[in-house]
Amino acid sequence: MASSLTRKICAAGNSCKNAASFNCEGCTQAFCINHVSEHCRVLGEELNEIIGEHNDLKNSLIQQTTKPESHPLMKQINNWEETSINKMRQKTHELRQELVHLIATHTNEISIRLQKVSDQLSQGQEHDDFIEIDLSCWKKTLTNSNWIFLRHHLCSLIKMKQVH
Ligand SMILES: [Zn+2]
Ligand SMILES: [Zn+2]
Repeated sequence: MASSLTRKICAAGNSCKNAASFNCEGCTQAFCINHVSEHCRVLGEELNEIIGEHNDLKNSLIQQTTKPESHPLMKQINNWEETSINKMRQKTHELRQELVHLIATHTNEISIRLQKVSDQLSQGQEHDDFIEIDLSCWKKTLTNSNWIFLRHHLCSLIKMKQVH
């Protein structure tokens, strides 16, 4: 009978006090007859886990190659595209609204100015009461009231919107 000094206890855990009669070369631990098969089973499970991970990785690689559109980064790009388009739509919508408003304001201003000039022209013509300075003043009013003036204003507005 082996002495207690040389008797090795099974490495399976606290519950097993059996003599360890099998050495595992892999981890240098010793097990009793009951737990040596348990140890082999645990090793087998670890191997299966690694095989599973390997297969998952292999499948994901195949999927990335055959279906690049399902890559998570592709989704990010798509989201960015959508957000950019929505922002652009919002900006162009605002610009259209501002244009409508500007046209209305501008048209109104011009009508008032034209009415004033119209009255002055009739009066000048009727009473033959006008000099060069009147002519130049009426010309100036007409020039400032044309659409080129509005277009210029709009171009600077659009540029401003694009920057921000
Ligand atoms: Zn082992
Ligand atoms: Zn044991």
